[in-house]
Amino acid sequence: MMAEVREFKKMREIYGSLIFDRKAMKERLPKDIYENLVAAMDGRQKLDSGIADTVALAMKDWAVTNGASHWAHWFHPLTELTAEKHTAFVTADENGFPLESFRGQDLMQSEPDASSFPSGGTRSTFEARGYSAWDPTSPAFIIKSPKGGTLCIPSVFLAYDGSPLDLKTYLLRSMQAVESRALKMLKLFGNRGVKSVHATVGGEQEFFLLDRPRAQKRPDIRFCGRTLVGSPPPRDQKMEDHYFGAIPTRVLAYMEDVQRDLARLGVDLATRHNEVARCQFEFAPNFTEANLACDQNQLIMETMRKMAHQHELRLLFHEKPFMDMNGSGKHINFSLQDSEGRNLLKPSTNHRKNVIFLSFLSSFVLGAADYSGLLQASISTPGNMYRLGGHEAPPNIISVYLGDAIDRVITAIEEGNANEDMPAKNMMDLGISRLPEIVAFDSDRNRTSPLAFTGNKFEFRAPGASQAMGVPVTALLSVWAAGMEKFIEIFEGYINKGEDPIDAALAAIRETAKMSRHIRFEGDAYTPEWCSEAKRRGILKATTIPEGIDLFMEPKTLDMLEHLGVFKKKEMEAFHTIRMESFIKSIEIEMSVLRDMIWEGILPGIMKQILMEKSSYDIVAEMDIPGMKGWHEHIYKLAAAKAELMEKTKQLTAMKEDLAAMELRERADTIVSKVVPAMDEIRRIADSVEIYVSAENLAYPKYRSLLSLSA
Ligand code: ADP
Ligand code: MG
Repeated sequence: MMAEVREFKKMREIYGSLIFDRKAMKERLPKDIYENLVAAMDGRQKLDSGIADTVALAMKDWAVTNGASHWAHWFHPLTELTAEKHTAFVTADENGFPLESFRGQDLMQSEPDASSFPSGGTRSTFEARGYSAWDPTSPAFIIKSPKGGTLCIPSVFLAYDGSPLDLKTYLLRSMQAVESRALKMLKLFGNRGVKSVHATVGGEQEFFLLDRPRAQKRPDIRFCGRTLVGSPPPRDQKMEDHYFGAIPTRVLAYMEDVQRDLARLGVDLATRHNEVARCQFEFAPNFTEANLACDQNQLIMETMRKMAHQHELRLLFHEKPFMDMNGSGKHINFSLQDSEGRNLLKPSTNHRKNVIFLSFLSSFVLGAADYSGLLQASISTPGNMYRLGGHEAPPNIISVYLGDAIDRVITAIEEGNANEDMPAKNMMDLGISRLPEIVAFDSDRNRTSPLAFTGNKFEFRAPGASQAMGVPVTALLSVWAAGMEKFIEIFEGYINKGEDPIDAALAAIRETAKMSRHIRFEGDAYTPEWCSEAKRRGILKATTIPEGIDLFMEPKTLDMLEHLGVFKKKEMEAFHTIRMESFIKSIEIEMSVLRDMIWEGILPGIMKQILMEKSSYDIVAEMDIPGMKGWHEHIYKLAAAKAELMEKTKQLTAMKEDLAAMELRERADTIVSKVVPAMDEIRRIADSVEIYVSAENLAYPKYRSLLSLSA
């Protein structure tokens, strides 16, 4: 008990100690400069470059006091990871005198070499020049290292022609797009006091933890983050030593360390033990403003990686590390919050407020109905190939689940139109004012839906665990902004006809509910019936990952994104190429690793087993023991598997050579139609004899040993 109290105090003391947050700024900056900076952080005004030197000095002092020796602009290149280039605060000039290197201009802008980051062909390497610029809306932070630490300055990363080389720029643009439309919507309802609207995001992060020394014996885990061969033991041999409920001590120790390090960076994490799969866990941070939430998710993943190493654990973010087991996702919860702290997706006991709530909700559903392709594109990543739409995975179809209460209300409003004379006012008693209780009671019942309204926010469950949140969040906010714009048009139409805002909004809800009916689905999304139903509704948009990536290029999506100012067509073309390349690269790596594992480990293992079996068989062959025939068949089975594996692996190698000569798109298609099935087949053969190979002949640890966390 005592220990707990002490620990709690400690957490509170360290919370936010390594971020240059408002408290630190206030302590270290003159009042007028602090106010200018805060206004820029809130997006109320542009950052005055005249104050940069003062801010830089204060930031540097704060950082040095907290042990930092270097500084870096920290950004999200288009690779899903983060990048930084460290520069020392103090360098030596040509005479060996110490030189302060961190001034206002360094804070505001930096020039990392852009040539090694993907650009989708927009630039050739020789002209690769870009710059990173400080994003003051996300606080600077210190990453500690054994010998000091680095002050990381969250930044955007742009090419000199202004085209983004990072994810953050697109995200910031989508946030702006959704904010301006949300403000307009609120204005139509007569609310003029609201100054800003922020998207709020909370990403739940699923992951696997394995014993590192054991995991590292497998090249597939080492290089691909997932198993390419091996399978769980058959059902009758279930892993009985499965712990139920309790988190193993070493995992708990790891989690506490992660939580403590992240608390210093102002990230508040709750842990959960997912009992869905063995060795699988989840972290959920408190939600925050979208941009910060995406930065924080990167910090969470980075901290988790480093800490896993220290704890002799191997962390897996892959979407499908193990066959026949649950995969890992990143559930993105999101909503909108106004400057008065109101959650715009929160049902209320007040009728008028509920009409506003339903308007925001309907706008999102409308946007999702019109641009579900963009949402699907945003989650079409290599890892999701095995988690969604593949074998043993739920189908990859975007639909929206509203929950019984909301669905009933929307449907009632929608059907109210059957009688044209029925004024909106008569629809008032649809249970709209009783929404909060009903919603709290029945939301979040359907875990099969990729996009669900969960009481006071939406939850996008399709993103993969290894994905950066930037892309899906940008897609969600763009889709919402587009839906809002269309909603507002209809809404305004009714207002212009003289309707009062509430009646006008109800009419708009009714019309848009009809337009978006096809995206709403309340049933079990994992059934084959839903798949055919979705086909009929026209929302089964892509069945493969490359087709999914192509949805970025749907003409109406391009028009919408260009109109909102989120992506220019040229930028999207480049982005599309990068996504396709990364899909191809990732599977090509898997091909090589699988080939090597078969030749280097699996085949020799089978061969040794055959030798062992054969020599013992020969010894007893003349004894004429019953069952000798079975023994013979056993050796035959091993030998046949070996021959078949060799043959198939050679074919896979040949495929790899063929791929090299193909154009990007043909390569992606061939991967889906030929390579993945060939790899599946190799796995099937290897797995079929895995149980016949003795422990000493086995090259790689089996699932049973991999999935055991005892040291
Ligand atoms: P669960 O989904 O398990 O019921 P919660 O709903 O409490 O758990 O929260 C799940 C995640 O959703 C958390 O990361 C939380 O911070 C986030 N979240 C809660 N409310 C909002 C909101 N209004 N906007 C964005 N994210 C939110
Ligand atoms: Mg949730």
